[in-house]
Amino acid sequence: MVEEDFKYSGGTVSAPGMFGTPSEDCNCRCALLTRARWALDEDELNTLKERAEFFGLDKTEDFEDYTNNYLESVGADKVNYAKASDILLYRGYPVNTIITPEAIVEHLETSEIGKRVIEYIGKSGVKPQLVYEKQWHNNRGEQQRNTKKIYVNNIANNKIAAQTVIHEITHHMYNIGGCQWAEAVCMANEKMHIERRSYLTSEEKRYIVKLVRRHTLN
Ligand SMILES: [Zn+2]
Repeated sequence: MVEEDFKYSGGTVSAPGMFGTPSEDCNCRCALLTRARWALDEDELNTLKERAEFFGLDKTEDFEDYTNNYLESVGADKVNYAKASDILLYRGYPVNTIITPEAIVEHLETSEIGKRVIEYIGKSGVKPQLVYEKQWHNNRGEQQRNTKKIYVNNIANNKIAAQTVIHEITHHMYNIGGCQWAEAVCMANEKMHIERRSYLTSEEKRYIVKLVRRHTLN
């Protein structure tokens, strides 16, 4: 099943297939992909920096620029904003937070993959939960069966929060997890969201594979 193309309302996508068949020795979890700062050596820090660049995480770009440019290119009338409470679980949020459910959903609406995630949440009823409390770890997100948690305190801005929703929902969409291959597929969807296209270049794929291998703890 995993080798087949995956069908969805928008057509057929070979996203999970783009990294071939998952290997037998699946033994990592996405929760392990980030490490405590004190555990990082210089080499790892450089890798993290490179990774941040790849995923556009180091740009403190203005959200308004980001959406405006996109809306201009597709025509603003084509965007239907989904109701945040239909997409995400949250019990209110701190007044001073910059990360809000509404802004996350707006970000999701800016790419095909983001829209697909919104649609999938609507159909499956699997809503990621925004956790605003401080955590002892620095993971962005986590999936445990049907619970998808987004750790807002470990996330810098709405753009990364939206990427994290895409990552965690991708695990559920394809019923994958617990291996490097799954991580690669989830990261691929994040990257395609950022680039707002439905494919990755071979260079990007290679980089993701490298990233996943590098950051896996056994
Ligand atoms: Zn993951």
